[in-house]
Order: sequence, then C-alpha cells, then structure tokens
Amino acid sequence: MNYYSTRSAKKENAKTAAEVIIKGLSDDGGLYMPERIPKIDGKFLQKLRTLKYYERASEVLSLFLTDYTKETLLDCADKAYNYTFDGENAKVSALKDENISMLELWHGPTCAFKDMALQIMPRLLSKALEMTGEKKTAKILVATSGDTGKAALEGYRDVKGVKIAVFYPQNGVSRMQKMQMATQEGENVAVFAIKGNFDDAQTGVKNIFSSADIKEKLLKKNTFLSSANSINFGRLAPQIVYYFSAYCDMLDKNGITPGEKVNITVPTGNFGNIFAAYIAKLMGLPVNKLVCASNSNNILTDFISTGVYDRNRKFYTTMSPSMDILISSNLERLLYLVCGPEKTAFYMKELSEKGRYEIEKDELERIKENFCAYFATEKECADTIRQTFEKQNYLCDTHTAVALCAARKFEKDEGAGLKNIVVSTASPYKFAPDVLSSLGRSAKNPDDDKDVINALSEYTKTAVPKPISELFGKKIRFDTVLDKTEMAKAVLEF
Ligand SMILES: *Cc1c(COP(=O)(O)O)cnc(C)c1O
Repeated sequence: MNYYSTRSAKKENAKTAAEVIIKGLSDDGGLYMPERIPKIDGKFLQKLRTLKYYERASEVLSLFLTDYTKETLLDCADKAYNYTFDGENAKVSALKDENISMLELWHGPTCAFKDMALQIMPRLLSKALEMTGEKKTAKILVATSGDTGKAALEGYRDVKGVKIAVFYPQNGVSRMQKMQMATQEGENVAVFAIKGNFDDAQTGVKNIFSSADIKEKLLKKNTFLSSANSINFGRLAPQIVYYFSAYCDMLDKNGITPGEKVNITVPTGNFGNIFAAYIAKLMGLPVNKLVCASNSNNILTDFISTGVYDRNRKFYTTMSPSMDILISSNLERLLYLVCGPEKTAFYMKELSEKGRYEIEKDELERIKENFCAYFATEKECADTIRQTFEKQNYLCDTHTAVALCAARKFEKDEGAGLKNIVVSTASPYKFAPDVLSSLGRSAKNPDDDKDVINALSEYTKTAVPKPISELFGKKIRFDTVLDKTEMAKAVLEF
C-alpha cells in the first residue's frame, strides 16, 4: 500500500506506511492518505467477532500497514491494549429505553479516547525507525486542546530514540487536563503552556514543521521532527479498529443482525475520529449516516449544511474544550476523497489566505450522502448530562453529552428506527467540575478538585478511575508559559 499527500498524488512522492508514520505531515503541507481504501466482506466481520480487541486491531491494521508483518502488528497491539487499559478497550453499552448504544473509548491510562491510538502509535513508530534504518532522534511535537497532549506524553514517555514536546493553550484546557500534563513523568518529555488558544498552538507547531531553518538546525543535532497529532496516519489507522469492534460486539449483545446498518455520532474537533468512522464505512462496515457533533464552535455544522467553511467567527471556550477548534485539520482528508488533490490544495490555500472556502454544490451533495451535522449549546450539553443520568442512570462527560444531544436531534429528524452508536470520548471524571454542576450539585470547596471528584463519585455512585485518583500527590514538573513567538526556540533548546 502506497501513501500520497492530500495535495498532490504524484507517483514519485509515494511513501510506505512506515515512512508516513515517521514523517507525519507531507512536505507540501498535505496529509497522507492510502492510495485506496481496502474492502472487507461479511466473512471478515465473522472472523473479527471471534477475536479479542488486540487481535481485531492487528487484523484491521494489517490492511493498511502492509509493510509491517502480522506478527509485528499483533505484538504492538498486545502491548498497547492488554496492559494499560482497565480491562475494557472499546466498551459498548446500550442506553435504557432508547435506540442508542454508547461506545466508551476512555478506559485507557489517561481516561480519554486518544489512548486508543496513542498507546499503539509509539510502538508503530519505534518499529518504523527500525524498519527504515533511521538512526536520528525523533522529536515529536504536539499541539493539544488537552487530551492528545497527555495521551501522547503517556504513550511516548521513555520510548527509545524519541523525545516529545507538548504545547497547550494556557486557558484552554480543564484543570484536570493541566494537572495531568504538568505532573507527567519520563526523561524524554517537555510540556509548555502557550498564551493563546488551540489554533494558535496548532498553527505554531505547523509553522515549525514547515521551517527549513529549524529543520537544518535540528539536523545538526542529529534530530528530526515528527508528529503525534491526528494529522499522522498512524493515529488515524488504530481509530478505525473500534468501529469494527463495536459492530461485532453489537452483533453479540445488542441485537443487530449481520449487515444491519447503524448510525454513528461522534463528538468532533479535529475531524479525526469521525473520519476514521467514515473510512470504516468505505471499507464496508454497515453504516448509514455519520453524525458530526459540535459544541458552540459549530463551524463544521455550518460547513456540512452549506458547503462554506469560514473560520472568521467568534471562538468560544466551552465545557467541552477538546472540541474548541476552528480549523479541523482532518477535514482535508475528506475533501481529498471528495474533490481530489488539486481542488484540495486550492481550498487549503484559500483557507490559509482568507480563512474561508466554499466547495461546489455536487461536492457538498456527496458529503451529505454520508454525513450530517448537529451542534449542542452549553445549556443543551448540561441538560443532556443531567437528564441522561436521572432517567437512564448513565453518567457521561461533557464531550459525550454534546454527541448524545446531537444523536437525539438526528434520531428525531431522520433516525428511521436504526440503531445508533454514540462515541463516548472521555471519562466524566476528567471534566468533573462541569459534570457535577450540570447535575445541579456542588462540592463543599469547588476549587479543590479532589473535593469535586469525591462529590461526583458520592452522588452518582460511580468509581473514580485510578489514573485520576492517583494524580493527587504527584509533583508538578512543568509550569513554563510561553508566548507563541517563543515556540520555535523552545523546540530547539529542548
Ligand atoms: C480529541 C477529543 C475529541 C475530538 O476528536 P477529534 O478526532 O479531534 O475530532 C472529542 N472528545 C474528546 C474527549 C477528545 O479528547
């Protein structure tokens, strides 16, 4: 399987999966995509049904990462999924009285769905460095709206031949996320807060990646840059797996029959997770519609209904901070599949020069065949948390609540009685203050996270995940705050 940039499919630029995982972003600024989407049949699903999660992962990954052996993939998946998760990898549970099953992807070491990809990607990168004979140190740069940073730090800590630096918006992540990153252990890690929002951090990282000057300076230190953001195909591929896994589990548990179509709703920020679901659909997983759920930063809701992508708008800081994004990088991959590389390059140029582009009517129609989009206001998000807990005894976090709200709107408009999968992307304890106040409760001391967490646990009679309870008592290791103009310097010095 060859990989090409979303901005040019020139044969001479073909890359292997290992090269793509090392490089992250293409030199022309585009994202890598496989030359074709592999197709599966009913037999493949029947086989997956009999397997454990890590084996399912190696089966699906082997269709894309064809330069890795099956044994290598199975070994990477075993180490990624069988030791650091709390016994569940992708847990499906049906909500009472509703056509909705929750797909919980937050049972890993950082309590967010990013673990599903970031526990395996460092292992895939290590193998890729071996396979390609790369001797230089890989410096991973991550811009994060909260969850990617911690999950990447945890995945890459003390991995040989790799260093990792994480940049997060100073006031754009939750207190718990900040504490998770500031206390990160490991000898090869660095964490920086940035004065600005997530898009500032992401643009800063992208600029560093495209600077020839920095590249040259790092080369002199025998170092090169690599990325762990969802622009890296090595992040995207493992995310395809859990959609297959969820479907298999629903065949067993939740009364769907082979071939029966389901809708999937995904709380969306950078468009990575929902794009992985779209790939699963293109591969042949029986999926009807993909519902793109946004918070008040509803640029994708507008895009999918009008075809206009316009980032010249107010930026909101919401209680679902991992979705507070105005530039959804992975949307470029969808444009590539719908419009081809030349048009994609043109739209991306428009976006960087004018902050806006508009796709053609027929292109929008093709997107609408597969996608629809809804958003939830802050009040709707809070109401969803409270009502779902009170009526169905199911506790969800703020991001998941946005998706649940969107899924219910979709179901009412055009659900057609099909079963729905709603992707649950974080433990409610990761966003405990907002979850607790959404429930109409408060802690004795709302500024003390430990108090808030205990109050949430007592009221809902749910257990605090270990990675969260263990945070208290850890030493703060990182408290540097940088201006966005200082990011390049930090990268060179680290
Ligand atoms: C990252 C994240 C999202 C958004 O996922 P994308 O792949 O960026 O669309 C949603 N919820 C949570 C909790 C996240 O950490």
